[in-house]
Amino acid sequence: MTLIPLYGHEGLRARLSETVARGALPASVLLHGPPGVGKQRLALWLAQLLLCPEPSRPCGVCQTCRYAMALTHPDLHWIFPRPRSRDADPSAEEVVSDYGDAIAERVAAGGLYTPPSGSDAIYVATVRAMLRSAALSPALAARKVFVFGDAERMVPQEGAEAAANAFLKLLEEPPADTTIILTSSVPGSLLPTIRSRVVAIRVPYLSDQAVLAFVRDERVRRAMAEAELPADPHELVRLSGGAPGALLGRADAAASHARARRLLEAALSEGSADRLALALGSGAAKARAGFTETLDALTALLHDRARRAATDQRDHEAYAASAAIDVVDRARTLAQGNVNPQLITSSMLGELEEVLHG
Ligand SMILES: [Zn+2]
Repeated sequence: MTLIPLYGHEGLRARLSETVARGALPASVLLHGPPGVGKQRLALWLAQLLLCPEPSRPCGVCQTCRYAMALTHPDLHWIFPRPRSRDADPSAEEVVSDYGDAIAERVAAGGLYTPPSGSDAIYVATVRAMLRSAALSPALAARKVFVFGDAERMVPQEGAEAAANAFLKLLEEPPADTTIILTSSVPGSLLPTIRSRVVAIRVPYLSDQAVLAFVRDERVRRAMAEAELPADPHELVRLSGGAPGALLGRADAAASHARARRLLEAALSEGSADRLALALGSGAAKARAGFTETLDALTALLHDRARRAATDQRDHEAYAASAAIDVVDRARTLAQGNVNPQLITSSMLGELEEVLHG
């Protein structure tokens, strides 16, 4: 099992190769660009380039390259948003095992995956586990590389200031044998303290030619068919607009988002009558189908609220938004059981109003 090859981005790859060959790649970089252009795949390629010991790298055939392409290289760490752990404070071992499973799943799909759901984030337990690995010497290669996908999902958490500061210090002055690569489609949502410590590199849209090669890859073709996308490669090129990865995740996101926004507005409005109407009304929460997606979208809105508040140093509001995320998480757990979505919505809105106004 290996990743699907990296398609396109030849110009950027040539520049990165040349920069690495000169030993001039900054220790902490940010790959940013539109969703679905392959930023994380490019970051993993860059990691392989940094780890491969051959003169013409990445050679693609040495043991390091083979391990890197199968994501089994112990010095290549891939971190991305995950669902919040059931355990309030998971151990580093639990975090590592969760990522092991998630990465195995992504590799089995060739490295194709849909965007993280609303509640997925890079939680502080993950950052702590990462800091622990960063403090160790590389296991096999001469260096270690950390790839943080969707890095804007790193959330500020109450009581986690020490880990956050240690992470910032690591970004600013990583050990000589460590490279950190962040990726983000919404770099404006990165905490300014993070953004100011990384060198930004823009990843452009793919050329039609590169998209065509990508969608003709056998494993991509299968994934597109499963997502019920058109089979004609040229039609896919047209639909993708240079960002073929985004095709896979394009679901009914807009509708869920609109429902979530109405729920949040009701919770903020302090009008219990509105709340009740919304909970019992037909539009918002009647159907079980789509309910989880709505809760995910609501969590995403709250994460956004927490980030904005943290950026403006409105700490109290940031913590309130974090507490609200917990409320939605509990509602999600109930929704997995056999509880009526209307009842869940009604009690969730009451709790949300309390924590958001508290
Ligand atoms: Zn190699």
